[in-house]
Amino acid sequence: MIVSMHVASGAAMGALVRSPRRALLIGPFLHLAGDRVPHEDIPSLRFEIASGAACVLLLAVRRGPFDAATIGALAASAPDLEHVVPWLRPRGQKLFHGRHGWHRTGRFSASAQLVLAGAIVGVLAR
Ligand SMILES: [Zn+2]
Repeated sequence: MIVSMHVASGAAMGALVRSPRRALLIGPFLHLAGDRVPHEDIPSLRFEIASGAACVLLLAVRRGPFDAATIGALAASAPDLEHVVPWLRPRGQKLFHGRHGWHRTGRFSASAQLVLAGAIVGVLAR
């Protein structure tokens, strides 16, 4: 999944469970579930980081940094940090993206994910 879609689905989950602690626990599993859905990714790391960060920032500003939706957004997107932060993968082992074949490539287009993510974050940031 693209990063902003992980952010949006995490925020929606947080808003549903209404508990920052529960959102923090569920987030990483939601990430794994999302990567399992056959999807396209965006080849630009810069765009992925910028769009994901913008969504998290918007949620933090509108709902507060410790709101369940904001925490859910962070927890669900955090596993992608291991792509960019070397010390999160000692000996080159990735925890969330290591198992071969887990991450599915397929039909769910990057643009559809982007539109959906924007809509979800837009509603939650109202
Ligand atoms: Zn991932």
